[in-house]
Amino acid sequence: MVPHIIDGHIHLHEYKHDEIREICRRKDLLLLAVSDDLNSSRKTLELGQECPNVFAAVGLHPWEVGDVENVNPILSKFTNMVKDPLTRAVGEVGLDKKFVPQTYEKQVLVFRFFASLAAETGKPLSIHAAGAWREVLEVLDELGVRKAVIHWFTGPLDLLEEIASHGYYIGVNAALKIQRKMREVVKAAPLEIMITESDGPYNYRGLRLGPHMIPEVIKFIAEAKGVDEVEVRRVIHRNFMSLFTS
Ligand SMILES: [Zn+2]
Repeated sequence: MVPHIIDGHIHLHEYKHDEIREICRRKDLLLLAVSDDLNSSRKTLELGQECPNVFAAVGLHPWEVGDVENVNPILSKFTNMVKDPLTRAVGEVGLDKKFVPQTYEKQVLVFRFFASLAAETGKPLSIHAAGAWREVLEVLDELGVRKAVIHWFTGPLDLLEEIASHGYYIGVNAALKIQRKMREVVKAAPLEIMITESDGPYNYRGLRLGPHMIPEVIKFIAEAKGVDEVEVRRVIHRNFMSLFTS
């Protein structure tokens, strides 16, 4: 049997009803659906129940942190949500010094909160780390997080070894069609730490990302690693499933 295609990071809650239905019906696809805030986390949890191919993640995106006036009441709501058995992962959470450096201090507080909960519950983290690649790894290390995916990894290549040695993963996506750094990462990283993702429906420089682009990513990885596409799918499927086993 050919292993499932993995979409390890999608904002499924942002799609239109019809598109969600189409994605949820696919038997060849497994997805990790991430959230951006409290409302989308609730919606994603519902999608996790409705769609047998969806693992639901809850979290507060670093881009949303600035809009939250008082973080503590929000975070206490997230405590119960993360511990809910329907919640399979925590994300999208993280740190961003590139696009929203002005809220960095608050981001650190929020990210440490989610990382501690992930360490406590054993649930994996789906992490946004733009411009804060090292900083994110330092927090994971300090708080003893065991399972994490650094989504859309385009950080320094010399961090790949550290990521691998901790048993963490990187998310690779179809941005590689136009983003040279993503292609360099795929060439440099071992297949054993990669998880394919869409980050859909994000629009990256005119490219509306989505799960339909993942076969192209798999093809690129297969060529870069000199293995066939079924083998790429097999390894990435194994990487993904290891997030959910203790
Ligand atoms: Zn995302």
